[in-house]
Amino acid sequence: MQITANNPALRSWINVEASSEFPIQNLPFGIFETAQSGKRVGVRIGEHVLDLSLMASFGYFDDLHFTVADFNQDFLNPMMRHGKLAIRALRNRISELLSTDHTSFQNNPTQHHALISVQEVKMAMPVQIGDYTDFYSSKEHATNVGVMFRDPANALLPNWLWIPVGYHGRASSVIPSEQAVVRPKGQIKPDDNADPIFAASRQIDFELEMGFITFEGKALGHSISTSEAEDFIFGLCLFNDWSARDIQKWEYVPLGPFLAKNFASSMSCWIVTLDALQPFACPTPAQDPSVLSYLQFAGNKSYDIHLEVAIEAPTFPAHIVSKSNFKYMYWNMSQQLAHHTVNGCNVRCGDLMGSGTISGPTPDSYGSMLEIAWKGTKPVQMPDGTERRFIQDHDTVIMRGYCEQNGIKIGFGEVKSQLLPAN
Ligand code: CA
Repeated sequence: MQITANNPALRSWINVEASSEFPIQNLPFGIFETAQSGKRVGVRIGEHVLDLSLMASFGYFDDLHFTVADFNQDFLNPMMRHGKLAIRALRNRISELLSTDHTSFQNNPTQHHALISVQEVKMAMPVQIGDYTDFYSSKEHATNVGVMFRDPANALLPNWLWIPVGYHGRASSVIPSEQAVVRPKGQIKPDDNADPIFAASRQIDFELEMGFITFEGKALGHSISTSEAEDFIFGLCLFNDWSARDIQKWEYVPLGPFLAKNFASSMSCWIVTLDALQPFACPTPAQDPSVLSYLQFAGNKSYDIHLEVAIEAPTFPAHIVSKSNFKYMYWNMSQQLAHHTVNGCNVRCGDLMGSGTISGPTPDSYGSMLEIAWKGTKPVQMPDGTERRFIQDHDTVIMRGYCEQNGIKIGFGEVKSQLLPAN
């Protein structure tokens, strides 16, 4: 089925600023509520949210086999269970209804209350996440961490260039943008020559990541190939995988991160479909040594998505500390999903896969404070004269992301969360 919704010539009869990240070519899905109504599925266009449950009640999706019940929901999962092609048809239909070329919805002003100003909505967790997996797929990030904590001469572990390394995270503490994060407590070992202590973490960090959300995968025991992988990806979000570096340093051998990572991970609320990102597909960086057969792939499977991180505090406005790009990732999403399922592990509708920290090649493109301030040795100056090695209480971390081509910007909005003092 053709993706007609990406046509750059399309224009909407709804006023959308030229600089908007949500033109008619984007149409991301999310869950919203208003003072009058409970949670339901919406699609963003400019500064409006289109209420899909109302649109379904007007009959616009009858022939696509979507009903009001698919959209009158707390999460996107019931809608997503219709699968990739049905969601593509739905997005194509929404694009038609909002485009200047079609009059059915446009000329029916009694139905225009299905368009709600973003000022009147509150966004919520978009997806009921069953399982959350986090990868470690940026070569620059893995190298920087290896240089800092192990051996500069052998920064990458021997398996890294062969395996899209990942671990199973925790879904219960994945939270939406705008929800605050409480500084975690745990075991830390500030003095290498003394016993560990129990205290609030002193090294809270962000990790600049993107997440992807899966459709229902295959049955247990069956693998998804790299050529099939994108058929199982619904869309992407911005993802801040909060980390407590001091807890991590003490606990992570031998089984990897645990309490250093599972106190909170924040995601942006609009899920941009993989379909909408197709114009921004680009080559994956060269992989040497050449990968095993099940990880080989054809075509452009990486995506050119500009990313930035800012820190905001009560004493200064948002200050950018990093600019990176999703295209730097050594392993692409198709390889990650193929690897995840190569042993027969089943993924389910609404699973979340984190990319791993996205660091670029230069210090101004690193994706964590650990790297930007280089283990605390290069503190970063803030506009109020203070400096940061890690994130301080009452700081707010803001991540933004967008693609841009021929004057059309496809954006993710932001994932924004404030760090509160330990309980
Ligand atoms: Ca991570």
